[in-house]
Amino acid sequence: MFRAAVSAGIAPLTLACFDIDKPDLLHWAGKINLTAEEIRSSLPVFDGSKCNYCGACSASCKENAIQFNRFVPSVTHIVSRCSVCGNCLKACSRNGIQLRDKPAGRVYSGRLGANCFLAAEPDKNSRSGFQLVKALTERLDAESTCICDFGPGDDLQVSAGLAAMDLAVILIVPGNTWRKELETMQALAGKFALPLGIVVNKAIADADVLNEIKAYCAFESIPLHGIIPFRKEPEFAVDYDLADNQPIASSGFQEIWENILLLAEKNMVIQNENLT
Ligand code: SF4
Ligand code: SF4
Repeated sequence: MFRAAVSAGIAPLTLACFDIDKPDLLHWAGKINLTAEEIRSSLPVFDGSKCNYCGACSASCKENAIQFNRFVPSVTHIVSRCSVCGNCLKACSRNGIQLRDKPAGRVYSGRLGANCFLAAEPDKNSRSGFQLVKALTERLDAESTCICDFGPGDDLQVSAGLAAMDLAVILIVPGNTWRKELETMQALAGKFALPLGIVVNKAIADADVLNEIKAYCAFESIPLHGIIPFRKEPEFAVDYDLADNQPIASSGFQEIWENILLLAEKNMVIQNENLT
């Protein structure tokens, strides 16, 4: 998408890597001068010595982040699901849950020309990506067009990031799992009422799969913004060199970006109509 925006001459841009378990952007460290910022998070810590296993904390948790078993008995905090809302602390009448400050990881940021780059990497002992995602959303440059890269999935990290977005473009690779992945991300975009489009990436010359994807898009009324072939064809032969910051015009990527803009404009018209 970054390449598509570059090809369409959009500037300034922010490229933010929200896939914190696989921060590809860090491969460019060295080409982009990235500075690291330590991020800490306050997480609930359970004190077993005070607990009477009443289960009130588990019942108060909307994220399903506390597993309670009255028969064992046990209370298990699932850190990766915790949004640190504080409900469980209020629910515990025995003061058995305290917030404790822990390292969450690092947020990396840098600039190259007018463009801004963001990525995050979790601390090796942290299982909570939520605070890093929150830190990334807080650092998005409001003056630029922000393109945020998410990994697949519907966990708290992805949800927390998507909640801050205006539009979703699902990149699918036409392998065996495209339909399942698409359905998952489609449901998540629907949860946040995000206008949705699709780009097929690394499309192999398998007409059957491509026709299935096209039929799915038509049936679900999802715009198909473009198909990027597996082997680069001339119109996609753009290799944007971050070090040079020199975009090379590419009609294929440019067309994809124009289709995305059309979707954004259409959504803005619908929103304005709903307001009047
Ligand atoms: S609310 Fe407090 S006492 Fe009850 S199970 Fe949770 S931690 Fe234990
Ligand atoms: S802080 Fe909120 S999300 Fe986290 S475990 Fe407690 S109730 Fe659940």
